[in-house]
Amino acid sequence: MSFKRSAEVAEWVLKYAKGVCEHCSAPAPFVTKDGTAYLEVHHVKPLAEGGADTVENAVAVCPNCHRAAHYARDAVDIAKKMAESIRRRVYFTDNQQ
Ligand SMILES: [Zn+2]
Ligand SMILES: [Zn+2]
Repeated sequence: MSFKRSAEVAEWVLKYAKGVCEHCSAPAPFVTKDGTAYLEVHHVKPLAEGGADTVENAVAVCPNCHRAAHYARDAVDIAKKMAESIRRRVYFTDNQQ
């Protein structure tokens, strides 16, 4: 997967998730006005800490998981699981082409 710019990264990740949280597998909580399932894009390694704005560092998650990823006591464990989801996704998409 090659480097993509921010908007493309979010778009790709959301498209891949198909309305299901990549962390807890819950369906998106609602559908937005433009008809897409609402999920949020989270960078597992924060951009502010030098994380890359690539699909290998971004997950599409429900709002609960997104808040947890930032504020939960076990945020480190959540980040590890999210990184694991990304590895599976990278493997899957690389083997599809
Ligand atoms: Zn979730
Ligand atoms: Zn985030």
